[in-house]
Parts: sequence; C-alpha cells; structure tokens
Amino acid sequence: MSRSWANYHGHSFFCDGQGAPEEYVLKAIDLGISTLGISSHAPLPFDTGWNMPLKKMPVYLNQLSRLKQKYRDRINLLTSMEVDYIPLLMGPGHPRIQTANLDYIVGSVHFVETFADGCPFSIDDATPIFEKGINEIFKGDIRKLIKRYFELQREMLEKEPPQIIGHLDKIRLHNRNQFFFDEKADWYIEEVRSTMMLAAGKGVIVEINTKFFEATAQTFPDKGHFKWMAANNIPITINSDAHKPDNLLSGFAVVA
Ligand SMILES: [Zn+2]
Ligand SMILES: [Zn+2]
Repeated sequence: MSRSWANYHGHSFFCDGQGAPEEYVLKAIDLGISTLGISSHAPLPFDTGWNMPLKKMPVYLNQLSRLKQKYRDRINLLTSMEVDYIPLLMGPGHPRIQTANLDYIVGSVHFVETFADGCPFSIDDATPIFEKGINEIFKGDIRKLIKRYFELQREMLEKEPPQIIGHLDKIRLHNRNQFFFDEKADWYIEEVRSTMMLAAGKGVIVEINTKFFEATAQTFPDKGHFKWMAANNIPITINSDAHKPDNLLSGFAVVA
C-alpha cells in the first residue's frame, strides 16, 4: 500500500507565501496528500511583513471554505491559521481566532518581548536582529532569551492551548554552528523537554517542522530529540510549513 501524507502547516499569498490556496490544493492532490491544512499567519495588531492583513481574513476564510467544497471528493482540506502567542495581544484564545470557525489552530511563538522603541522582537528574523535582541533586551545573555522563549510557549500551552504547537525550538535557526549556545547543555534540553511534556499533557500535538530541512538540514524540533519524544509518547505531526506549493513535501521522506 502506498503511503499517503498529511500536512497541517502551510501558507499562501494571503500572508508571506507564494501562490493561491487553490494552487496548494492542486499540488497536494498531485502529490497524493490526503489531508491538507492551510494555515496562513493570523493578523496581528502591528505590521510584520509576513502576517495576513486583517482586512484579508474574511476573503481567506471564504476562499478556503469554497475550496473545501469544490475538492471534497479528492482531498480533505482543513482551514487553519498559524497564530502568534503574544501575551495580552494575540493567541489561540483571542476572540478573532475563536470566532473564525477554524478546523484547528497552529500556535507558534515568534515574538519575545519588545525593543526599547516598542518594536516587537522576532526570533524568526535575520541573525543581526537576533543578536540585537540578545544584546539590547536580554543584556547579552542568550540563556535569558531562550528561557523566556520556552516560558512563553508553556504559558500558551497552559492558558490558550492550540491543537498543534509550531516549530517549538525554532530559536535554533540562528545556532547552526552552535555559535550562540550549546544545544546539548542540560539546562537547554530541560527547556525543550518540559515544554514537550506539557504539550503532551495538554493534548497538544508537537509539530516536526521540515521547512528548513533542504536548506540547512535542520528540523524543528531537532532530530536529536526524536528518540526521547517517541519514548515519552509525545504526539507528533510532520509539517513542511510550505511557503510555495512545490514545498509541500519538503524534507518529509527523510524525516519520517
Ligand atoms: Zn512559524
Ligand atoms: Zn509557518
């Protein structure tokens, strides 16, 4: 029997992805994907360059429900959004998200505190901005930043649990050569594991994100955790976080 894939994390031109949702659907059908969830970045009350603008959200939701009907005999299309968790500002529990009638929510932390000028600090930006955040917000102490990053994710899991937690150690994006911190240090492993254990306890699925696998050979979480995750019954889903239709199965065959 041939294997069929599911992918619950992908974007489109409604946020920072390329291509219309329908192009993702057609490509997914082509690739034999049985369940496709589209999860554009949910709108935020400030500009980021990658989130969906609020005024586009109703069109996004309509378009997905129309596509769901149109292709219902060929694919199980699910409507989602990747929702930032920012205390008091945005999260899976926000009324705008709760009333959107989504099939499920991907909850992700990209923003950790703000710069002195009020600009939110994203860990998903270029490395010089990452360094600026460490120096200006965390007084040069990467450990403080990492602890806060995981603490925010645990806060989301406690207060506003999504169905899937996105790329929970993506802060490693800047640490390819272990330049910023030692990923094998006990304190660091403990942050990752306690966050995963909490997710499992809350019934939240931990995403294995393969978006960067072809470019940098990284997965989020790192493959070094996979054995521990299996031994501890951490529920998982493998997602490519595609930003164009051609990347719908990026990295899947190697990671699975
Ligand atoms: Zn993300
Ligand atoms: Zn994403």
